[in-house]
Amino acid sequence: MDDIFEKEMQKDTVFLDRNVLSSHYIPDTLPHREREIEKIMKTLSPALKGKPPRNLFIYGKTGTGKTSTTKHVIEKLLQVKDKYKVGVDSIYINCRMLNTKYQVLLKCAEFCNPRKNFIGFPFSVLLDTVIDYTRTGKTNFIIVLDEIDKVKNLDDLVYSLTRANEVLETGHMEIIGITNNVTFKKELDPRSRSALLEDEIVFPPYNAEQLQAIVKQRVKLGFKDRVMSDAAANLASALAAQESGDARYALNLILKAGEIADDDGLKKIGENEVTRARKKVEEEIVYDVIAGLPEHQKIVLYAIALLTLEGSHYHRLDGTGDERVLFSGEVYEKYESICRDMDNTSKSARWVREYINELDMQGLITISLSGKGVRGNTTLIRLAFPAEKVKEVIEKKLER
Ligand code: ADP
Ligand code: MG
Repeated sequence: MDDIFEKEMQKDTVFLDRNVLSSHYIPDTLPHREREIEKIMKTLSPALKGKPPRNLFIYGKTGTGKTSTTKHVIEKLLQVKDKYKVGVDSIYINCRMLNTKYQVLLKCAEFCNPRKNFIGFPFSVLLDTVIDYTRTGKTNFIIVLDEIDKVKNLDDLVYSLTRANEVLETGHMEIIGITNNVTFKKELDPRSRSALLEDEIVFPPYNAEQLQAIVKQRVKLGFKDRVMSDAAANLASALAAQESGDARYALNLILKAGEIADDDGLKKIGENEVTRARKKVEEEIVYDVIAGLPEHQKIVLYAIALLTLEGSHYHRLDGTGDERVLFSGEVYEKYESICRDMDNTSKSARWVREYINELDMQGLITISLSGKGVRGNTTLIRLAFPAEKVKEVIEKKLER
């Protein structure tokens, strides 16, 4: 009987297992990361013999597999440790969420002593807890700090851990630092730099062919048999290769393409769905940019979106159709009136001109000069994305 539910779930979907396409899923094998896996394994393997491994620094652009590869290797390490009962342990911390030395150490202390509530305890107690754990278990405690550049007082943290290692007679703490920030290394205090960068691995971006292998693997696991065409999978790989070799982007494309197919009741995913998925992904990126704009730039863009929806009072004079082109003057008037509605003091026209230039540079609008004849020499403004959607995103942020 319960496979009625099961069948319902399987009905009308191209997916076999959507989960496989989420960015948190780590497949059993990671194509084209064999060399990196081997290097990390070599760095860590002394831990299995009770010798402290060197600290390791991993960097590379987003979507080059840094997080997945590191987690994969740690998992293998812990499997061997369980089998041979050696003193090795590891904790994974994403520093985007836990971005202070205190929060990082709190997480470590909670790992070392899960029954105790450490909240509110001073840093030294947290550190002592980790030291005790490491010493008594004769443990090599590997602390993975992903997005390590986000830690505010990283120099302090590295210093504390290095000092702690000096007093430990048995056991040792290691840091694997991961980042996609290339300049970050230079900002470090020379002492923590030399501590962190004992070993270093750079993850190169994937090329189109490598992305094809990654995509193929997921297509097999994530979609029903023969749902996605090879051409579609290859297109997703090629597009991601253009996007700086980002595997996350490629997988996001095929996930979205699958969603589009389901929405439209299609049984197959072709190049067309991938192309549409790309547009969707790009729009999402744009909406994030809009959401992050400074307030008055948002209001100016909002004015542009509203005017676009209302239709400009003026017509385009170069005869290229009825695209909604706005004059900077009317944008300013609209901006002022929105500010009034919001009880917000408006900025001068000069500032608004500046904002318009910045919105243009961000690719959110395109501007051109009207040339002679149309109200003198004025700036023409065109919204680069659907006005309805832009309006919606800004309204959410401006809480109107
Ligand atoms: P990074 O940490 O470098 O930004 P991730 O490890 O988070 O990259 O990888 C991004 C996405 O791409 C994840 O879904 C991951 O599973 C996938 N991925 C990256 N490299 C590979 C690979 N070699 N094989 C299979 N999947 C991969
Ligand atoms: Mg990552």
